[in-house]
Order: sequence, then structure tokens, then C-alpha cells
Amino acid sequence: MQSSSAQILDGKALAARVRQELRDQIDAGLAAGRARPGLATVIVGEDPASQVYVRNKRRACEEVGMANFHTELPAEAGQAALLDEVARLNADGAVHGILVQLPLPRGFDYDENAVLEAIDPAKDADGFHPLNQGALMQARRAPVPCTPKGCMRLLAETGVETSGKKAVVVGRSNIVGKPVALLLLQQNCTVTICHSRTADLEAEVRAADIVVAAVGVAELVRGSWIKPGAVVLDVGINRNEAGKLVGDVEFAAAAERAGWITPVPGGVGPMTIAMLLANTLEAAWPDA
Ligand code: NDP
Repeated sequence: MQSSSAQILDGKALAARVRQELRDQIDAGLAAGRARPGLATVIVGEDPASQVYVRNKRRACEEVGMANFHTELPAEAGQAALLDEVARLNADGAVHGILVQLPLPRGFDYDENAVLEAIDPAKDADGFHPLNQGALMQARRAPVPCTPKGCMRLLAETGVETSGKKAVVVGRSNIVGKPVALLLLQQNCTVTICHSRTADLEAEVRAADIVVAAVGVAELVRGSWIKPGAVVLDVGINRNEAGKLVGDVEFAAAAERAGWITPVPGGVGPMTIAMLLANTLEAAWPDA
């Protein structure tokens, strides 16, 4: 068995590099007379976690030289008012990306699917519109969900050859598990998607050259399951019993076997915001 050998995939550092690249690209484009890219952020209600996420996204936007247009609606605003706001942003030429922070407040008439469908697919910075998710299934060019896109960028950073490798994705959500599985398939991996009804998760993970854990259960994936040398991308953000932030993978034990592993925090999380900016820039300047 390998001793403590994994290289840490530092998402914080990589995200900072990506943001710098975006900044340089934006500076050059503006100097060449292009219109400033703009991201609209919409938050409904007062959920503290959502407030923090949106604040970070807005700050990142400004840091790279993008415009940010921000809308706050009270929880009781309702579906019709939210759809009106989305329609207004769809029609605004200065807005190239639109993000409606989820989840929407409970106990009102909100319909998240209807809101996501109302966003102009060309301005879908999160890549959640069904048309864009369909495009991803067909490997067509379209906005890709930010967390899966960040995972693929981290994977590319390892320099590991993906073709023919066995990838196991734990989790099948529309925003992480399924899209990351499709992206791994595009990279010629042989992909297995696991979920809560998977019969033998341990056996699946043990066989994997690449593991993506997107579950939301603290340290579900045990370190002893990791194939020596595997790449481990941990999307999960959980609090353990001691109140510490941990991923879906038992990090210390997994790091003794993995070739590469993302920490939590500081792994996939920072890449998500960097990819949101990348999606907005691609929407603003598709030919750049
Ligand atoms: P969801 O709750 O939508 O999906 C979780 C998935 O995990 C489901 O497919 C579920 O299976 C599966 N699952 C649950 N329990 C088990 C189990 N015991 N064994 C195997 N599979 C199981 O979560 P998300 O995809 O939205 O998010 C996953 C995690 O990633 C969360 O911790 C979230 O906080 C984090 N996250 C982090 C982001 C970042 O930027 N770093 C961005 C987005 C999410 P089933 O379908 O059968 O119910």
C-alpha cells in the first residue's frame, strides 16, 4: 500500500489563476472596444447561506472586471414577480449571464423549474436550463453547470490521461452528478453513476481510477476504498459531528492512497465561482 502520497489539488490557487486569466482576457477585450460582460444575480428571500454565496459571486465578478447587476426580492414577492424580473434581464443587452440563486423560499408559490426555463438559454450562466442540459447530453457547445465544469478543470490540472479510465460518480443530481458524468464520458472515461440505491458502493469506488463524490453525506466514501493512485474530486460540503467542514470523502485516509485529491474546503468550491465567471464571459463574447 502507498504511504501518504496524494498530491493536493488546490482549487483555491487554481481558481485564483483562472480569475486572473479571465481578468486579462476582459481587460484586453475592453481595450479592443468590446462591451463589458455583465452578470445579473437574483436572490429571493433572506436565507443566510444563499446571501453569502451571492455576495461571493458578486465580489468575484467585480474582481475580474465584469459588471454585476443585482436584484433582491422579498421572500413573499412570488413567482409572477420573479418571472417578470427574469424577463426584464433577458431583454437587457448589458446582461450576458443570469443567475437566480437556489433554493427559492419554501411556503410560497415558487416553481424552480419554471424559473430556470424562463431564463434565456444564451444567458444561462449556471447551465441549468433544460435546453442546455440537453445540449450537454449531445456534447454540443452550450453553458455547462459550474461545479462539474470546475471538476473537469481540476482533473485537467492533474495531467492524468482520462481516455479508457474508469470513472465513478457518486450522486445523480441534475446540477452535479449527471452533468459531471456526461463530461467524463466526453473525455472517453467509462462512467458509472452511483446513488442511494447502488447495491455495493464500496466495490464501485474500489474499481475507480477517478472518483467524483457529490452526495452531501459527511465522509461517506471511506479512505480504504480508494484505488491506489486514483484521482479523487470531492464536491460535498458537510459539517461533521464536531461541527467541522468536511467533504463526502474521508480525506486523511483517502489521501494516503489517492494520487490526487481535492480538499474541503479549498477544492471544488472555489472553482465553481470561477466557472460561473467563465460561463458569463463565454456568453458575452462567444467568439473570443
Ligand atoms: P443532491 O442532494 O441533489 O444529490 C445527492 C445525491 O447523492 C443523490 O443522487 C443521492 O441519491 C445520492 N446519495 C445520497 N445518499 C447516498 C448514499 N448513501 N450512497 C450513495 N449515494 C447517495 O445533492 P447535490 O448534487 O446538489 O450536492 C451534493 C453535495 O455537493 C452537497 O454536499 C452539496 O452541498 C455539495 N455541492 C457543492 C458545490 C460546490 O461548489 N463545491 C456545488 C453544489 C453542491 P438519490 O438520487 O438516489 O437520492
